[in-house]
Amino acid sequence: MKYPFLDLGEVNAPYMDRMAAAAEKVIRSGRYIGGEEVALFEQELAALTGTHHAVGVSNGLDALRLILRAYVEMGRLSKGDKVAVQANTYIASFLAITDAGLTPVPVDVDPVTLNIDTARLEERMDSGVKALMAVNLYGRVAWDDRMRRAVERNGWLLIEDNAQAIGARSPLAGIGGGHVAGSLGHAAGMSFYPTKNVGALGDAGAVTTDDAELAETVRALANYGALKRYDNRLCGFNCRLDPIQAAMLRVKLSYLEEENRNRLRVAEAYERSITNPLVIKPLMAEATDSCVWHQYVIRVGEARRDELKRYLEEKGVGTDIHYAVPPHLQPCYRALHHDPLPITERLAGEILSLPIAMRMTSGEPEEIAGIINSFG
Ligand SMILES: *Cc1c(COP(=O)(O)O)cnc(C)c1O
Repeated sequence: MKYPFLDLGEVNAPYMDRMAAAAEKVIRSGRYIGGEEVALFEQELAALTGTHHAVGVSNGLDALRLILRAYVEMGRLSKGDKVAVQANTYIASFLAITDAGLTPVPVDVDPVTLNIDTARLEERMDSGVKALMAVNLYGRVAWDDRMRRAVERNGWLLIEDNAQAIGARSPLAGIGGGHVAGSLGHAAGMSFYPTKNVGALGDAGAVTTDDAELAETVRALANYGALKRYDNRLCGFNCRLDPIQAAMLRVKLSYLEEENRNRLRVAEAYERSITNPLVIKPLMAEATDSCVWHQYVIRVGEARRDELKRYLEEKGVGTDIHYAVPPHLQPCYRALHHDPLPITERLAGEILSLPIAMRMTSGEPEEIAGIINSFG
């Protein structure tokens, strides 16, 4: 494959020496749970997002489910409460909600931004919804004026699923006044799964928030329910971030801007060069930093997506689909009641993710675009 969709060995190769040195330091330290690397990573992540607190955890799903479980422990949410969530998200957003004993209310999406249709949130006011999980899907910030109005009028808790948009900035200030994804709502879950814009060498995640009580409750829940040894206030779990992953992430975090700039450069080249009328290209944000291009997702009409995918594969271009089956159509959510979700269901058959994370030399995105343009 001349243009693999993603080759993580290649993505991490430029950081090899620094990662190896950081790993050696952890191995020699003899400290393999918690400690300095985790604390420093948390400080650096809090500084990057502009939040008062960051808590390293085991993965992105755990980050989201610990936030919701903490809100239940704190009495801010009750079992059975409804949580509105973007219908075309990765299933982890839904799983976090059901894990905490809450009920997902999938909301259909805007076919242009591919994020939650914020006009539909206003229809949800007074419907018993208590919280909103806003997903910054494909790297694009979901927060806007209408979302702000719905959240403020209803007193909803706003949880950002920020697994895909680390480093993105919103033109509109968030609830706490910050502009960085991960600080826009009351709390955010991050994922450092290897394919994310900042990827660990395994599973890792974090919670960011300005709320000290929430941060403390999440930290306790992730550590057997205890902040001090043998003082188990809550029935918790073991969902901690490993120091070896924290050390890898500290290396990667220092290159985030460069990585995100690279993704933007590829997206801009695709935008200029893809001209096939069968293809709808993703929206180029007005503010170039409000999308960090976790995925570059085109839409292919006339039921020809799978045909284009096969064509590109034959021509040496790897692609992927994020996501082929929306969560509400998965067998585990058979019993979930929901409104019709026609846009989400249609998009699932039209979307195709092009290579974006690989370091491409100039001319390469144009070459991929040329292959797409030759499909007819
Ligand atoms: C990756 C991802 C998650 C889950 O993160 P993991 O670290 O893989 O558990 C949740 N939500 C979205 C939108 C994601 O892309």
